[in-house]
Amino acid sequence: SDPDERIRFALIGLGWFTTERVIPAIAESDLCEVSTVVSGSSEKADRVGDEAGAEYRLGYDEFHAGEANERYDAVYIATPNATHLDFVESAADFGKAVLCEKPLEATTARAEKVVRTCENAGITLMVGYRMHTNPAVRRMRELVREGFVGDPALVEGAMCQNVFEMISPDPNQWRLDADLAGGSALIDLGIYPLNTARFVLDSNPVSAQGTTKSPHEHFSEVDQHVSFEVEFETGVTAACVASQYAQQRSQFSVIGTEGRLTLEPAFFGEAQLTAERNGAKADFLVEPVNEEVEEFDYFADCLLSGRDPEPDGQHALVDMRTIEAIYESAKIDERIPI
Ligand code: NDP
Repeated sequence: SDPDERIRFALIGLGWFTTERVIPAIAESDLCEVSTVVSGSSEKADRVGDEAGAEYRLGYDEFHAGEANERYDAVYIATPNATHLDFVESAADFGKAVLCEKPLEATTARAEKVVRTCENAGITLMVGYRMHTNPAVRRMRELVREGFVGDPALVEGAMCQNVFEMISPDPNQWRLDADLAGGSALIDLGIYPLNTARFVLDSNPVSAQGTTKSPHEHFSEVDQHVSFEVEFETGVTAACVASQYAQQRSQFSVIGTEGRLTLEPAFFGEAQLTAERNGAKADFLVEPVNEEVEEFDYFADCLLSGRDPEPDGQHALVDMRTIEAIYESAKIDERIPI
């Protein structure tokens, strides 16, 4: 494609998601390229920069000082949750569009600052909820809208992993650090069934309740397991579990008066959709896509055509408020209105 019609990205934070998922996706994308990598390690910036074909390699201080900012159009932020705001503030100073990883920040107050900063600077903000690009999730959403399940009544969701096997054995990793992560099982993993329920039901939470548990010594600061229940505007209840240190589980169902739709796996790997209506099974074959290729090309297409991308910052704030309500509920053992 015409290189003039491409969005040049500065990738901020060269951790596993950026290197394993995003850089290969950008290589496959039609509308994106990596012009700049930003890292705390100059050795990593050089190595990853070479792999990604990035011409510019910056440290965090150089990025904040605005170095080479005429060389990129947008930033992609994939650093620990509590550091997103600082990068957004600099991107806003330089007038750059932002694609920020979920959760938007570590707390609602900081996430609100992210949104205000982007609104005040008039820059585009999209949040990296990759499930919105997944065709099985989108098909499920259409089927719910068309009444396949009758009236939706319940959502059941689970997202569990063993962080020490899946992510890193390091007991000092940021996902276990309350200041950097803002929490763990819920804000990192429970956000998947929560946000997918909002997307599929096309409805927002009105109240939430939850319980957290942290039996393992490495979870002294954050939630290891969470179970939560969210009530939606439509009256649907979602009951979800998430764990940062348990056996893997990745499942999401919408149960209605006439039918049931299930994604399993839901959030890891290629989501599989199965359906049952009045006792009859139906398989919906959906062509899988690379979620990150879809996400990056969609974001770039919005920027190139002057449209506002979704999910935006206001969408992400609803998750942040709900997550905060669930943490508060777990603390005081009560249901919390949102
Ligand atoms: P990693 O720990 O693998 O990478 C984070 C990177 O951030 C580090 O490698 C480092 O990059 C940089 N960094 C900057 N400041 C710090 C700090 N104080 N401590 C540690 N690292 C720092 O994390 P992930 O890639 O798994 O997650 C990054 C973000 O992406 C999170 O917000 C997470 O929630 C989100 N995410 C989203 C996923 C999705 O499916 N949408 C999946 C996985 C993560 P460097 O060494 O280059 O400076």
